[in-house]
Amino acid sequence: MTDLTLDPAKQPRRKAGVPFVDHWCRAKGCDRWGSFGIGRGLWFCADHLAAGRMILERVPVPQKQDEKQAQGRLI
Ligand SMILES: [Zn+2]
Repeated sequence: MTDLTLDPAKQPRRKAGVPFVDHWCRAKGCDRWGSFGIGRGLWFCADHLAAGRMILERVPVPQKQDEKQAQGRLI
């Protein structure tokens, strides 16, 4: 349903010396500011927010090594 493509070159970046992170809309070909963060470094403008949420549902959540080791163990 969505034709949104993430642009890997537009990952959020922290610049040295400034107290904020650059996070542009991750939609390929969009040059608007990513006003809406939906997790895992994904930011979108208002126009691409809904399509971005659909992509988030499809991308598997990366597991940290500690979480993998803790699975199946009783504490
Ligand atoms: Zn956008």
